[in-house]
Amino acid sequence: MKHTINKHSWAEPYKMKMVELLKMTTRQQRIKAIKKAGYNTFLLKSEDVYIDLLTDSGTNSMSDRQWGAFMTGDEAYAGSKSYYKLEAAIQKYYGYKYIVPTHQGRAAENILSKILIKKGDIIPGNMYFTTTRLHQELAGGIFADIIIDEAHEPLNDHPFKGNVDLAKLYKLVKEHGASKIPYVSLATNVNLAGGQPVSMANLKELRAYTSQHKIRIIHDMTRVAENAYFIQQREEGYDKKTIKEIVFEICSLTDGATMSAKKDALVNIGGFMATNEWDVFEEARNLVVVYEGLHTYGGLAGRDMEAIAVGIAESLDDNHQRARVGQVEYLGHRMMEYGVPIVKPIGGHGIFVDAKAFLPHLTQDQFPAQTLAAEMYIDSGVRTMERGIVSAGRKANGENYYPQLELVRFTIPRRVYTQAHMDVIAESAANVYDKRKSIKGLKMVYEPKYLRFFQAKFQKM
Ligand SMILES: *Cc1c(COP(=O)(O)O)cnc(C)c1O
Repeated sequence: MKHTINKHSWAEPYKMKMVELLKMTTRQQRIKAIKKAGYNTFLLKSEDVYIDLLTDSGTNSMSDRQWGAFMTGDEAYAGSKSYYKLEAAIQKYYGYKYIVPTHQGRAAENILSKILIKKGDIIPGNMYFTTTRLHQELAGGIFADIIIDEAHEPLNDHPFKGNVDLAKLYKLVKEHGASKIPYVSLATNVNLAGGQPVSMANLKELRAYTSQHKIRIIHDMTRVAENAYFIQQREEGYDKKTIKEIVFEICSLTDGATMSAKKDALVNIGGFMATNEWDVFEEARNLVVVYEGLHTYGGLAGRDMEAIAVGIAESLDDNHQRARVGQVEYLGHRMMEYGVPIVKPIGGHGIFVDAKAFLPHLTQDQFPAQTLAAEMYIDSGVRTMERGIVSAGRKANGENYYPQLELVRFTIPRRVYTQAHMDVIAESAANVYDKRKSIKGLKMVYEPKYLRFFQAKFQKM
């Protein structure tokens, strides 16, 4: 028989050498566990979780090469060899001149915000990110969302929903003056929009305009490799370019960056700040000593810096990224087949289920996304997380933000789960969807002051 399938599916460019055994739980055990956790999936014990999709942050599987590099970590307090390896990797692959390592992304945000933001400054950004905006606000800045409107529409399948709406930026500059805007906070593969990319064309326009007005672009490059993959797949003129080339080009259009290496860079902890400006670097090098540690380790062990340096290179491999995003897309398509409402197009690091469409009988004050995340856990032990009204928090005046998007994030750790796991997740989402009409909402019974989604507690209505 002749086969005529002319197709090469994505598949993992690696094989397994070690596995981690998981505990299988019963529905009764899970009901008890989620109740005890105040219906907040962040408060579950991970041993009670079967498939952990809470986050793709620090949950990566490291490669044999990374573990090998771990053993070569130079744990010198000052001038560690591992620091110079990390610096060289960042300069080679991202092109930034000066770097300061930090223990994770938010520490880089803290330092950079303190240096660049003065009280009353406006910080335009392509959608907020929780820790990024909080550090901007704590430094006295006021965040202004300048992402295109399409990003707020879950069903709009614009290929570059992470794009900046330049008209929104022009308006801010006109209103406040460029001197009030120290930088544009530009995230690649925008997390809270559902892992949606920025196009190179948009970034080039943004660069031209900001250069003219002497406004920096600070790049939240946590998911830059995934963004580059989408540019390669979707943007004219980029299909023959490698992810390495595209990432380098993106970085070259910006002035500095903060990075959580716990995402694209394939490690479990780490981050850094990068800048092309000597003055900013000087100050950052000073501040990092206050908050993190000496500027040649910044809160990281030498072995962590080794693993990041190797992880950066691995993350820019075309086959890695194709399998990474391919797995996410596989899950998304399975869920769509079952009619589960998800954000489109499918993003780079996870599936975002539209909780407003899933549970239309709940008001936003009944926390539809928080509710749905709890139901998913009860059904199958799959742990997801809320990205809606709870995550959005409160404004400075105490009022709740009411974000347009009320989502449950199914985040896929890199190189961790199999295609069979993806099937279990999709089937579970379908089960919960089948009985959606009987699902009741939640009320919040404990609310922490900062980043409440991490520790808030709820009860069933
Ligand atoms: C995770 C993340 C951060 C913060 O990094 P941490 O390492 O968690 O401190 C900042 N921005 C984006 C887009 C992120 O996804």
